[in-house]
Amino acid sequence: MTAPGKLRVAVIGAGAAGLCAARHIVARPESFAPPVVFEASSRIGGTWVYTEETGQRPDGLPVHSSMYRDLRTNLPKEVMAFPDFPFDPSLPSFLHHSDVLAYLESYTDHFRVREHVRFSWLVDAVSPAEGTEGGWDVTACWAQDRMVQATERFDAVIVCSGHYSDPFVPPIPGLETFPGRLLHSHEYRCPEPFAGRTVVLLGAGPSGVDLTLQLAPVAQRVILSHRQPTLSALPGNVLQTAPAVGVAGDTVQFGDGAEHRADVLILCTGYRYRFPFLSPARLGLRITDHTVTPLYRHLLPPHHPSLFFIGLCKQICPFPHFHCQLLFCLAVLVGTCCLPSAAEMQVAAEGQLRQHLGAGGPPSTSTGWESCSGVTARSWHSWVGSSPCSRWSGRSTSPRGRAAGRTSPATGASTTGC
Ligand SMILES: Cc1cc2nc3c(=O)[nH]c(=O)nc-3n(C[C@H](O)[C@H](O)[C@H](O)COP(=O)(O)OP(=O)(O)OC[C@H]3O[C@@H](n4cnc5c(N)ncnc54)[C@H](O)[C@@H]3O)c2cc1C
Repeated sequence: MTAPGKLRVAVIGAGAAGLCAARHIVARPESFAPPVVFEASSRIGGTWVYTEETGQRPDGLPVHSSMYRDLRTNLPKEVMAFPDFPFDPSLPSFLHHSDVLAYLESYTDHFRVREHVRFSWLVDAVSPAEGTEGGWDVTACWAQDRMVQATERFDAVIVCSGHYSDPFVPPIPGLETFPGRLLHSHEYRCPEPFAGRTVVLLGAGPSGVDLTLQLAPVAQRVILSHRQPTLSALPGNVLQTAPAVGVAGDTVQFGDGAEHRADVLILCTGYRYRFPFLSPARLGLRITDHTVTPLYRHLLPPHHPSLFFIGLCKQICPFPHFHCQLLFCLAVLVGTCCLPSAAEMQVAAEGQLRQHLGAGGPPSTSTGWESCSGVTARSWHSWVGSSPCSRWSGRSTSPRGRAAGRTSPATGASTTGC
């Protein structure tokens, strides 16, 4: 049973973001009931749980992790760590993925989070509760057979389900007819199966470049197709070409008129946002492959300020960013950080979207929220106040007020934190 006046928060996912959410909730027992962390798999760590499996897990759910055997971090550990939990000083700066998983295991134990994780529970619906009390109904099922289902009421929901699991496949004419091996970087695990082959990689983001470096020593030839300026310091058997525009038989056609035969085609074309447990229209949201809008500060729907999305932006230092976002969310929930009115948040979020579209084209073809302009760790901290808000402007009753049986007035407009 939850003590009166304490907020019940559901966290979806026990990757780095969900663990961080739980860690900060556990640290505030005066305001929050113990968190409930729903995790569809049987492990903590999310992306960092390496598995040789690809495709579907034995329980029929898709394999979540995109980790490959030899991945080393592309951020140094000094930058990558949660601000309150450094990596082991004896480790090198650029870590093997197994060191990151071990770090997340230690974080989980150090902050006593594990007991709050409901392993093998897949959230399949999150909806605003009916009635005046507000809150959220979260429905989850036992992931291993999906036969047992339960719905619980929470004051707030923090979505930490990750966004590097659902491959984005670009619409390249003829791609589906390619007779060789066609895979997405999500399914790449190690270089050996590609020995002696001609491999074409599409996309020179972090995965495209890293896989090029992994494959070059074993492949006969690697062709890296991308739209960026020519990359330097790649191995001698790597050819860089323009973006692919078509596939005909085993030949890939490129935008500069070149054509190359390939044995293997690897799509390093990124991932799609996907939240199958949400009904976007009901929340006033529009979710495309590459955007979730409108979200105030890339974090919350203006009309539902007790639903939070952690880590949607891509060009961030993920763990410190999660930490700061979560301090902000919890400050909003306990009422020490005032939000503007729903209307003002809507205007701000739409303005941010307009700015984004101006810079990158329509959401369907842009690379999405690559960066959160103006959202830095410093700015998150600056929004987190320490004294209680005099009002809650997002709803007529703040989650805190509701849990405590108090009602905060919804008056006026403010755009600054308390
Ligand atoms: C190949 C690769 C390399 C990377 N390298 C780095 C790096 O070097 N440094 C760095 O800082 N970051 C790196 N990242 C980014 C990495 O994704 C983040 O650091 C971080 O781990 C993301 O954590 P997360 O909790 O948001 O998501 P995830 O780690 O994806 O965790 C999400 C969790 O939610 C669970 N889940 C999903 N849906 C549901 C549901 N409906 N119900 C219940 N549970 C659910 C999943 O099972 C999973 O455990 C890399 C990512 C990839 C893919």
